[in-house]
Amino acid sequence: MRYVSTRGVAPALDFREVTLAGLANDGGLYLPEVWPTLTRDAIAGLAGLSYVETAVRVMQPFVGEALSEDELRSLCAQAYGRFSHDAVTPLVQLDGQHWLLELFHGPTLAFKDVALQLLGLLFEKFLTGADRPLTVVGATSGDTGSAAIDALAGREHVEIFMLHPKGRVSDVQRRQMTTVLAPNVHNIAIEGSFDDAQALVKAMFNANAAGTAPFGHLRLSAVNSINWARLMAQVVYYFYAAVRLGAPDRAVAFSVPTGNFGDVFAGYVAARMGLPVARLIVATNVNDILHRALSSGDYSAKHVVATPTPSMDIQVSSNFERLLFDMGGREGAAMREQMAGFEASKAMRLTNAQREGAAALFSSTRVDLDDMALAMRWACERAGQVIDPHTAIGLSAARDADLDAPVVTLATAHPAKFRDAVERATGVRPTLPPRIGNLFEREERYETLPATLAEVAAYIANTAT
Ligand SMILES: *Cc1c(COP(=O)(O)O)cnc(C)c1O
Repeated sequence: MRYVSTRGVAPALDFREVTLAGLANDGGLYLPEVWPTLTRDAIAGLAGLSYVETAVRVMQPFVGEALSEDELRSLCAQAYGRFSHDAVTPLVQLDGQHWLLELFHGPTLAFKDVALQLLGLLFEKFLTGADRPLTVVGATSGDTGSAAIDALAGREHVEIFMLHPKGRVSDVQRRQMTTVLAPNVHNIAIEGSFDDAQALVKAMFNANAAGTAPFGHLRLSAVNSINWARLMAQVVYYFYAAVRLGAPDRAVAFSVPTGNFGDVFAGYVAARMGLPVARLIVATNVNDILHRALSSGDYSAKHVVATPTPSMDIQVSSNFERLLFDMGGREGAAMREQMAGFEASKAMRLTNAQREGAAALFSSTRVDLDDMALAMRWACERAGQVIDPHTAIGLSAARDADLDAPVVTLATAHPAKFRDAVERATGVRPTLPPRIGNLFEREERYETLPATLAEVAAYIANTAT
């Protein structure tokens, strides 16, 4: 399988190369050159298979020659063996039409574990024998950092530097990162905001590309959701859930609490592969750029408003470019021009082809704080399920949709990760599950640095091996 960039200039890569590269060097994102498909019989044949076996069948066409089927199976068994539920991503029925797909049974309690646990193992596998280790640099407002650190801790040939805004992530989130004492994990508390931390990471990648940072001896990489392998790993649970609810004979709808458009794009990939998907509901909070884009073609960034769903407090959804490219006839030059316009003015219009193409499968809903709290209360009182605020955005949108099909809401975080917001809405204070263990007794380790490129770059250059 070959991968091409949405901006049409970067070289086509194979699966191994695309996993290690992350972003394309023309600023675009990689996609498979053609969508592989599973026949109706192949989808029917997934019934009753374990999560790991489903993962092998769904991902093998994307992996191509880069791994043998047995190697892929062994990596999946290792990654998903760390989940605390036998089903890995269990379905929970709420009423006659609604289900939750619980994606939070991984080590750090957020759905990002599903993809990052596998990505950590893929990095290690693909870097065996490489001349230099991979230095992963990222910024986090909470969930991504802890999931990436857990996935990479102790892995060979790779180390990770994670920047978080000092004093602006929750205690649980900070401790999930800073109590990981593996020598290849480096936490940096930045004296600034999340935007400062993210701007520093961007500046470091730019300086590295221009040769002006002291990183000559390092091979930098990123683990955010622009990485194709992360999206691929997320396609699996759409098949796993739909088959349990009657696919391929019955079409199933999904409601997805959306930030960077990675998770819901994986649902689109499942549909392109042949899974009968009745609808994909893009559920946003009040940071509603995707809702405006899908409902009226207006993709224009506004100021980010902080909400109880921080993982969705995003104004520019990087993965949306992948959908626009696929809907717009896969024309790299046109995409380059459209995105240059957006980067200059922070606003653009979708073309008719993009709007009509997206409308065939996607709908969208903007959910405000009141409706989010109502959904948490409904789940608790009517269905006996305590859900987190992100999941509540998805459930509220799901219950608003007028559909005949069964609707699966993706439950993206464990409610204990957002205890205060859950308690405020429902009166129930969720307890941290035992696998988090003695988080509050463990030793923490992190470096505090000012938000300046010179100091952070020097620290990384001097600490990295
Ligand atoms: C990251 C995240 C999301 C958003 O997922 P995207 O792939 O960025 O759309 C939603 N909920 C939680 C809890 C998350 O951590």
